[in-house]
Amino acid sequence: MKRIPEPFRIKMVEPIRMTTEADRIEALQNAGFNPFLLSSEDVYIDLLTDSGTGAMSDNQWAGIMLGDEAYAGSRNYFNLCEAVHHFFRYEHVVPAHQGRGAEQILFPALIDRMRNVRGGKDPVFISNYHFDTTAGHVELNGGKALNVLTEKALDTETAYDWKGNFDLEKLEDTIRQYGSVNIAAIITTVTCNSSGGQPVSMENMRAVYEIAVKHDIPVVIDSARYCENAWFIKQREPGYQDKSILEIIREMYTYGDMLTMSAKKDPMVNIGGLCCIREKIELFQAVQTRCVPMEGFVTYGGLAGRDMEALARGLYEGADEDFLNYRINQVAYLGERLREGGIPIQYPTGGHAVFVDAAKILPHIPGHQFPAHALCNALYIEGGIRAVEIGSLLLGRDPVTREQKPSPLELMRLTIPRRVYTNDHMDYVADALIQVCRNPDSIRGLTFTYEPPVLRHFTARFQPL
Ligand SMILES: *Cc1c(COP(=O)(O)O)cnc(C)c1O
Repeated sequence: MKRIPEPFRIKMVEPIRMTTEADRIEALQNAGFNPFLLSSEDVYIDLLTDSGTGAMSDNQWAGIMLGDEAYAGSRNYFNLCEAVHHFFRYEHVVPAHQGRGAEQILFPALIDRMRNVRGGKDPVFISNYHFDTTAGHVELNGGKALNVLTEKALDTETAYDWKGNFDLEKLEDTIRQYGSVNIAAIITTVTCNSSGGQPVSMENMRAVYEIAVKHDIPVVIDSARYCENAWFIKQREPGYQDKSILEIIREMYTYGDMLTMSAKKDPMVNIGGLCCIREKIELFQAVQTRCVPMEGFVTYGGLAGRDMEALARGLYEGADEDFLNYRINQVAYLGERLREGGIPIQYPTGGHAVFVDAAKILPHIPGHQFPAHALCNALYIEGGIRAVEIGSLLLGRDPVTREQKPSPLELMRLTIPRRVYTNDHMDYVADALIQVCRNPDSIRGLTFTYEPPVLRHFTARFQPL
């Protein structure tokens, strides 16, 4: 497969440390066989997440020096508003410290609106797939978070262009079942992180919005990876080949009423988020009211002036087509190398990560012994590479019965930070994983030595069986 070279040159480097296999075994034992508990100095290639791990450009760093740290009305806030208006055409802008900050100031306001304006009682949010903190904020506010993702996303080996799409029939059925007045919002997540960074088509976004308008339900676009989603639309959807990424983004955002954004993804800042509203002024005022006690005054929302400047500039850089060509090619290249090596992955690859199908590689390890987590540990010992489990361990137990919830997939996510690792690093990762998979029978499942009651994957400790 053709590799697209990096559209940047490197003028500052951060050394990373190669370790020996003996070092890594010791580090993993000390970390309770949980890669989240490793110190980053013991990791050679860190593919835990693409969140806040991107490399800022010289232009973004220069913006950092232009921070206007006034408490209110910072010049950087106005630069940020200008960038938001340019890309999304949304009128009202509230900064937040990251994506979940935006969620916590918006969702209660949506629930109030559902009760007071639309006469609903029991709040429900429907999404193609709620990101874990997004579902967390819905549930913390007494709502139900329901996912209506296309079934095609569950079949990892059969290619489908839009594995992030809503199943429209299920969406309509769910609205009917719960009653449209109880649906606080529909959340369109672009790209769909949980199905593998998979894109949502423009046609699907449009159809979802038409259904929402028909039932008077607001649509929130959960926007961590909107540039990557726009790139897929340009490549794959009939009628979009001659449009610019900017034009595609602008059209996407006509199929929503507001957005929440973790700016730690596509806009490549180390910290930052946004909550923007197209026009509804009352909702904007309600969000501002919550912002002050939760995130900070309405023109900084938990960010320093300099952070807002880096974010304003990052919005432009993330949408650069040459960058996106290289970025998504790098992910696809790693996926191709693995497929050539006989490793089953979610196919085609999405925007930000390669999802490896660990259940297929390790059929001898049952879900409750965490095959994908075991594969992460084996990959760390082989090459000092840190990946993350997306499967039974992440899903957790039923809160009532305390039984392990059955997970449809056991995936290991290799998440690629933006502008950080070269294509040679991708070859190194592929070679290490192919090596690990030559001898799958030697990999054993794990059992807990410590299991926290909630969000257990972050701090649990294990021993191999
Ligand atoms: C990362 C992410 C969030 C949460 O954002 P944070 O910046 O981590 O708080 C929400 N939704 C999606 C789709 C994400 O990927």
